[in-house]
Amino acid sequence: MNKIVVLGGGESGVGAAILAKKEGFDVFLSDKGQIGENYIALLESWNINYEQGKHSEEKILKANEIIKSPGIPNNIPLLQTAKYMDIPIISEIEFASRYDRAKKICITGSNGKTTTSSLIYHLLKEAGLNVGLAGNIGNSYAYQVATQSYDYYVLEISSFQLDNCYDFRPDIAIITNITADHLDRYDYNIDNYVKAKFRITRNLRKEDCFIFDLDDQITINHLSQIVLKAKMLAFTQDKSKNIEEGAYIDNDKIVIKYNNDSCEVFIKELALGGKHNIYNSMASAIAAKVAGIDNETIRKALSSFQAIEHRLEPVLTKNGVLYINDSKATNLDSAWYALDCQSRPIVWIVGGKDKGNDYSCLKNIVKEKVKAIVCLGLDNSKIHRAFEEIVGKDNIVDSQSAHDAVQKASSYAKEGDVVLLSPCCASFDLFNNYEDRGCQFKDAVKNL
Ligand code: ADP
Repeated sequence: MNKIVVLGGGESGVGAAILAKKEGFDVFLSDKGQIGENYIALLESWNINYEQGKHSEEKILKANEIIKSPGIPNNIPLLQTAKYMDIPIISEIEFASRYDRAKKICITGSNGKTTTSSLIYHLLKEAGLNVGLAGNIGNSYAYQVATQSYDYYVLEISSFQLDNCYDFRPDIAIITNITADHLDRYDYNIDNYVKAKFRITRNLRKEDCFIFDLDDQITINHLSQIVLKAKMLAFTQDKSKNIEEGAYIDNDKIVIKYNNDSCEVFIKELALGGKHNIYNSMASAIAAKVAGIDNETIRKALSSFQAIEHRLEPVLTKNGVLYINDSKATNLDSAWYALDCQSRPIVWIVGGKDKGNDYSCLKNIVKEKVKAIVCLGLDNSKIHRAFEEIVGKDNIVDSQSAHDAVQKASSYAKEGDVVLLSPCCASFDLFNNYEDRGCQFKDAVKNL
């Protein structure tokens, strides 16, 4: 019997192991750390062999194929040996897609993946389609393929998952945008990162669609260097650009054109505010149009969507100060959009684990909109160097807990201001993850 080894016992690894078991493989799962209790219970209920706290090379290298969780870098010695021995190393997405006949709408990009995926899922659900949402969201794709039967999947896919995809093919592929992020995993070379994102397009056929941001220079540069067979559907907010099929702005509306039909939606009726969310709404509406959803349903669904936690999520207003949780903004571009869409003076809570940020691109917007900065990280020196001169020495302080950050921010804020947590950095120096950071922020705000 073919042996499958799954590396990593989190959501995607356990899902892959369950699907492999269901498909009759001899499965072994190995996690170098501790596996969560809920996942152990699942593995045991499916009778899957596993180990934790180590990787037993002699067992792992007997595999016919290795399914690697996206959190494990490709260059660890164990995987180098596997590669040398010609053992294929694939991602959970690649594996699951072999057993899935549903139509797949797949979203990658630097920012806006979760928002766009959730919005498309909402559009398809509102249209009454039998659709699953997976990838980086909720239950893993593999687990859902093993246990559900859908006609459509909306898959949010990170570049780490794409790294080990080979034959995986979406019916509709979307790249929301590409800006420098996670460069630590790509030898600090943006080309490697761009190529990883573009792997989503590599198997597209001429009947498939590629949806992309025409205003994103990195995307456009890369497109000029490759040939894609798929139907190209661009979205833009630049009025000087001409779109034959795709989405654009016409006065106070977004217009979506596809197959000799067009759908118009008033910008003020979009559920999600901010320039970045106009892009996300455009990309989602094009995908919905390609999926054959009628214009009225598209309009209604774009306006009935509920904001997602930790993404520009309004928490509450206290003493006339609005507190916003944008903990998911873990890179420069997402924080730029968060700052840009505020109309009030901002007390900005920023910082965390730096992923190689060059803050110079934020200097102008900080000068224009930010009155004070509360740094929330173990090492805040780069933030001080970048912004201390702009906001003034007295208007920048350090904090090392959400509680302290909120206290300090509230002391700077006056009626009519906004306190914005949009950290620009990963959370791992002080928090378990961005959700933990956002929840601690919200708790601290509620206890003010
Ligand atoms: P991802 O899943 O790609 O990390 P999310 O949809 O979770 O993206 O949004 C993360 C953050 O990025 C949000 O809090 C918001 O500030 C910002 N953002 C969302 N969409 C975009 C976009 N299209 N362009 C730039 N920034 C965005």
